[in-house]
Amino acid sequence: MKTIDLLESNRLGSKLPTEDSIKLNEVTKIVFKLKKTIVLTGAGISCNAGIPDFRSSDGLYNLVKSKYPKNCVKGQDLFDISLFRNELTLSLFCTFMEGLYSSSLKAKPTETHKFIKILKEKNKLLRCYTQNIDCLEKVINLNCGIDLNNFNDGNNSNFNKIWKNLDVVQLHGNLQKLSCTQCFKTFNWSPDNQAQLSKGLNPECENCYLKYQERLYSGKRLTGNIGMLRPDIVLYGENHPQSEIISKGLSLDMSLKSDLLIIMGTSLKVDGIKKLVRNLSKTIHDKGGLVIFINKTPISKSWSNLIDYEILSDCDDFIKVLKHEIPDLFLTQEQLDSKKLSNNKEKTKEESLLTPPSTPKKTKIKREPKKFKRAESNSKKINKATNSFKLPSPQSSFNEDDEPDLDELKMTSNRSRALRAFTRSQMNQERSIKVKRELEDVDINTKRIKL
Ligand SMILES: [Zn+2]
Repeated sequence: MKTIDLLESNRLGSKLPTEDSIKLNEVTKIVFKLKKTIVLTGAGISCNAGIPDFRSSDGLYNLVKSKYPKNCVKGQDLFDISLFRNELTLSLFCTFMEGLYSSSLKAKPTETHKFIKILKEKNKLLRCYTQNIDCLEKVINLNCGIDLNNFNDGNNSNFNKIWKNLDVVQLHGNLQKLSCTQCFKTFNWSPDNQAQLSKGLNPECENCYLKYQERLYSGKRLTGNIGMLRPDIVLYGENHPQSEIISKGLSLDMSLKSDLLIIMGTSLKVDGIKKLVRNLSKTIHDKGGLVIFINKTPISKSWSNLIDYEILSDCDDFIKVLKHEIPDLFLTQEQLDSKKLSNNKEKTKEESLLTPPSTPKKTKIKREPKKFKRAESNSKKINKATNSFKLPSPQSSFNEDDEPDLDELKMTSNRSRALRAFTRSQMNQERSIKVKRELEDVDINTKRIKL
């Protein structure tokens, strides 16, 4: 088991030691790469949502202790079936649960809850098993909790289909529902029920009451009691009413070759959870997968062979690290596409800056009418011939759009021939004058020598 301590570096505001950075990098790559993740969550993921942890120093147990200092009920006993044996402790349980329900209504899903949703959206979530009863996963539209009515038809293919659609399995029940102690029917909280529970009273079950009335009016023998409503959560020492379905679903998940187990916000102290993690870890390791544990408190070394990475951190802080290291995991497909597009544009821009400008491509010149071409070639000849005389270029008055005047061009051509002939004769004349002058000079000089 490799340990990464994010708490210490956060507390000191210092950089993570290189060794831990390397291990953290391994973890982020694993989360990004592996495809079939099972998540197991505990109270630690809901602390930042405003729901107190059960065991931490500012947890629920201590809050109850400060609220009822004279009462001898210990924190853990508030979740124990034994409190139903005593009217006073039952009353305390009702008041406490109503408080917890009210605070859960105000709570908002945390970064960790949203991370579970992201795993689902990226098709990487095989299942989330939670010990939490707050149902915050439902707020972000995760399919949360088992509806017994769906599973009761005994059809196996139906079971597989319904189970595979379930995102979150609540191992300890659901605080957002009330259930009858007699007929086990579940109900939503009503303002009336809430008012009674806050006073420490258990509301009567409507279903049981109606059945009782029916028997009474039909003159049948009155059997059974009218049940009372309590939060639909599983207490210590109590069997989970959905245990059969959960163990069947768990077997199905184990056969689906999960490659990653992420355990978040739980200290793994409850026996049932310990067993679940042991089984999941072994199955995942057998398939070559990995197990990552994230919690504020270190885990016992007895887990060393079952957990690969222990990250000491607040769960939301760890999610922030993931967001920083593997941002693409948190982007929607649309955002990824637009990121890819802008990256490509940026790349093309960079390439064009680095590459020297290429030779411009030959552009195809539009073929002009034959008449124009000939006229143009004539005008070139004229230009060449007349340049030395600085005659006004025929092109100076030549407009490409106009039809060239051939007669004028012909005349100009004749003129240039005449000019060439004139130049030749003038040059000859000048040369003969120069020779004559030179001869005269020689004559004068010879005369001078003679003198
Ligand atoms: Zn009932």
